Amino acid sequence: MLHTVEPAPRAPAPGRESDAPSPSPSALRGMSFDAGSAALAPVQMNVAAASGQLTGAQVSSAVRYNKGRGLTHAQWRGIQAQVGTAADGLVGPNTVRAVARWQASHGLTADGKVGPATLGKINAGGGGAAPGAGGGSHGVALGPAQVTAAVRYNKGRGFSAATVRTIQQQVGSPADGVFGPNTVRAIATWQRSHGLEVDGKVGPATAGKLGVKAGGGGAQPVGGSNSQKLSYAKSHATAIGLRITSTTGGKHAPNSYHYQGRAIDVAGSASKMRQFYHDMHAMHPTELFYDPLGGVKNGKDIGAIGGHGDHVHVAF
Ligand SMILES: [Zn+2]
Repeated sequence: MLHTVEPAPRAPAPGRESDAPSPSPSALRGMSFDAGSAALAPVQMNVAAASGQLTGAQVSSAVRYNKGRGLTHAQWRGIQAQVGTAADGLVGPNTVRAVARWQASHGLTADGKVGPATLGKINAGGGGAAPGAGGGSHGVALGPAQVTAAVRYNKGRGFSAATVRTIQQQVGSPADGVFGPNTVRAIATWQRSHGLEVDGKVGPATAGKLGVKAGGGGAQPVGGSNSQKLSYAKSHATAIGLRITSTTGGKHAPNSYHYQGRAIDVAGSASKMRQFYHDMHAMHPTELFYDPLGGVKNGKDIGAIGGHGDHVHVAF
């Protein structure tokens, strides 16, 4: 619904609040407006806000605000999955508009900003989930996409079966040593009762509170050796559903890191390659090439180098 907003002819004097109570957005639904009446301009703006429409300036402001929230790519992917936009982990105008629409349909201020109230409602699985849906029996409703993401994340952390059983015992889920949807939902409930971010993922904070450690190459070794990082890259690529298309074999430039055993190429869906690129980018790789997103050489972002449109190359 787009209307030209014109200045109201009888604006209240500066410093004075209007005496007329403004109708609540819900009271406005179903009413029809004379678009030519300038006196209705403020009402039209309320309707636009209630339906989640934002101006360009509001979108820019919300993008800036959201980027300043200090949320991880993984957290953004979870938020994006909840609000129904492409889950690439990056905060842009499309995400902001989807957040605004989601806010409007969940009784929140539709400003596109993921502030505490919005994040709380998103973490609770949207708040509107029917009891019994998702994790309803545990009292915390993660959305199906969140559950799937958490299962994948937890499996990629490299916990031993014994450690998974320990986790399951602590969160009150049957201790079969395998991460599945029920374990993830029990973890989410446990996280909520322990004041942690409720995402079902056994990340560093949750693992610390549970008193467990990721084993082998499971945890993302940001400060580890290059070979530890490469081994994590391999297991992470597989864990998120990508396939490794080249390690030391194949045809590469003569001085390629592939021949030194320091590089891998991975391929799969575009969204997973994007996720992999972002996850690797956080680990300060020696080389990282994926043309749709750019490239890194010796720790510096150098932009796309070409020849890497259908796979991600990473070297440590
Ligand atoms: Zn390569």
